Amino acid sequence: MKRRDFVKKLGTGTLLSGGLLSYSQSALAKKKRVKWKMVTTWPKNFPGLGTGAEYLAKLIETMSHGRLKIKVYGARQLVPAFEVFDAVSSGTAQMGHGSAYYWKGKSEEAQFFSTVPFGLNGQEMNAWLYHGGGMKLWEELYADFNLIPMAAGNTGVQMGGWFNKQINGLQDLQGLKMRIPGLGGEVLKRAGGTPVNIPGNELYTSLQSGAIDATEWVGPYNDLAFGFYRIAKYYYYPGWHEPGTTLEAMINKKAFEALDKDLQEIVRTACKAVNQDMLVGYVAKNNAALQTLVNEHKVDVRKFSDEILKKLHQLSDEVVAELAAKNAISQKIFNSYQSFRDNVIAWDNMSELAYMNARKL
Ligand code: CA
Repeated sequence: MKRRDFVKKLGTGTLLSGGLLSYSQSALAKKKRVKWKMVTTWPKNFPGLGTGAEYLAKLIETMSHGRLKIKVYGARQLVPAFEVFDAVSSGTAQMGHGSAYYWKGKSEEAQFFSTVPFGLNGQEMNAWLYHGGGMKLWEELYADFNLIPMAAGNTGVQMGGWFNKQINGLQDLQGLKMRIPGLGGEVLKRAGGTPVNIPGNELYTSLQSGAIDATEWVGPYNDLAFGFYRIAKYYYYPGWHEPGTTLEAMINKKAFEALDKDLQEIVRTACKAVNQDMLVGYVAKNNAALQTLVNEHKVDVRKFSDEILKKLHQLSDEVVAELAAKNAISQKIFNSYQSFRDNVIAWDNMSELAYMNARKL
């Protein structure tokens, strides 16, 4: 091809694709635009959790060419943290970001979709949700509340919490008043402690004033941001009670169903992207924050003894089995979760765990 012809052809092609682009853009512009409110259980822009919710909103807006715009509210800006579920269920807001164990007062079974003590870690949880039937059960459970759930973040394995005394044996848990949500709280109660649930933004003052003796929150990255190292002496691991907590985006069913099909898919895809991004973000940021806590703030980091962990595991199995026995849907979710857990442990013992042990040699 002569150069002149080539340039001519290229010109036509460019013109053509430019024309197509502006055609599809104007078609998009004609589609209806929607504005949503997203209420969250986190302080506005709180690292990881709050910023994850912001990222989700931004991603949906960009992917939809601005057709779905979502304004994010921190806890108490529109509704208090623990009223997010009702606000989205009733349609006061179209979307919420939180974690399902906060709604155990509405539905105890919802706790399976946050985290289960000694249960699935973040990667295993996502495997169960997306490929093991978990998502379908979650949708079935939330349908009664006029909600559509989506996994939209995961913290990975959390830390065991901040204490002002050493936890050397089970006797040290007796009478301990600790902020610990969900099923982990129920387990602590059976071990002799007093669990309380307090939203994140009230934890520092509660621990500082002595209203609580101990608290768990998330892990080094988030705990450093709250500054717990200033008011607690010991930082324990592992977070047996939250081995991979799923954060959720809940969406008002009517609002979701009113969206164009492509927007629905954009919302689903953006949630999946944020779900994965948050999990790996925590891996990167926790390890950096742990260095800061240990090296700069000289935090005394300790591991719970095997004796304590074994007892807590035994109590957890009891608590979870009792939850399962409460009603048919709970039993159905438990059966699915538990059989996935048993099988994935067999595989992970041979893969992730065997490799991690090998890496330590
Ligand atoms: Ca936690």
